[in-house]
Amino acid sequence: MRGRKACQVRQQPQVLELPDGASRCKSTGQITYQGLHGMRILVTGGAGYVGSHAVRRLMAAGHEVWVYDDLSRGHAAAVPEGRLLVGSLCEQQCLIDVFQSHDIEAVMHFAALTLVAESVADPLLYYQNNVCGSLSLLSAMRRCGVWRLVFSSTTAVYGAPQQQPISEDAPRQPINPYGTSKLMVELMLEDAAAAYGLGFAALRYFNAAGASPAGDLGEDHSPETHLIPLVLHAAMGRRSHVTVFGDDYPTPDGTCVRDYVHVEDLAEAHLLALERLQPGQGLKLNLGTGQGYSVRQVIEACRRVTGRPIRAEVGQRRPGDPASLVADPSRAKQVLGWTPHYTDLDRIVETAWRWHRSHPQGYGQ
Ligand code: UDP
Repeated sequence: MRGRKACQVRQQPQVLELPDGASRCKSTGQITYQGLHGMRILVTGGAGYVGSHAVRRLMAAGHEVWVYDDLSRGHAAAVPEGRLLVGSLCEQQCLIDVFQSHDIEAVMHFAALTLVAESVADPLLYYQNNVCGSLSLLSAMRRCGVWRLVFSSTTAVYGAPQQQPISEDAPRQPINPYGTSKLMVELMLEDAAAAYGLGFAALRYFNAAGASPAGDLGEDHSPETHLIPLVLHAAMGRRSHVTVFGDDYPTPDGTCVRDYVHVEDLAEAHLLALERLQPGQGLKLNLGTGQGYSVRQVIEACRRVTGRPIRAEVGQRRPGDPASLVADPSRAKQVLGWTPHYTDLDRIVETAWRWHRSHPQGYGQ
């Protein structure tokens, strides 16, 4: 394979529960496969929150990475020097040029709009960006003979399932245009796998959270709508309080329960999924910890970690919020050998807090 580079992760004797060909680094706990290093990978949306962490992980594993991002929501500062290609997914010819000029072998597709409320207000924006953008990308991949794809999907494809924890066999019944747009892409991937031999993994994230432990990559959305960053903004005095969106849900303390999964654990799962792709086959996997925390528990964790009193006020329910979303992550463990390292909410919040304190204005500083 051209462009092959030495793996940065020390190989260790195989541990029993790992899939064939995988080994785990003793010091970092990271799992690596033999033989798939130094691939040329295009990461769409690699300037965004999860994408930028994945880029770093892929590079650490010895892959040659290029980021393709229109910077509408991402940050150039989150991309390693000299790796950013600015472009739109809708410009199919640009994508084809990139595939050919960089001899791309695999794609990780993070580029998407991800806000539920925005998708309800402007659904066509979501179908245009998420669905048409993915269609353009898939067409370019097909034209250029690139068959490996890892796709950022979401728990929103399940809607509001009755049964918790949620397994991959739960019916896909999204309740907002964001979830529908991601489901539409999953369906396209399934058909493209059957017809053209695409090999894909659709990774359904639960609630991505945290930041790189070094505090140099993190969450920076504008406007910010996610719970943990908003609570930490309140801790920093950037806002007076956090509003709890409803306390009358059928959950133990009445507030919504979510499964918060660390962004570095997500990045690790992407690397593992890339290495498991097979032509014509699709993996659909939940990425969560299997442990749910309520909004009140998240606020308490932020108080503990920051040592600051954070004012919380109960407000109205936010439209479209299911009461509880907790993953059954057993299939990802079985198929990928993936186990989240961050299972304790305080540890996840600690990394986010480090990022927010060192970057009070996000990447703007
Ligand atoms: N939430 C809240 N107040 C906020 C933001 C979020 O109570 O200011 C709640 C939200 O209703 C949901 C949970 O926190 O139950 C996580 O929301 P977030 O937007 O972080 O992620 P989502 O689950 O919507 O993907």
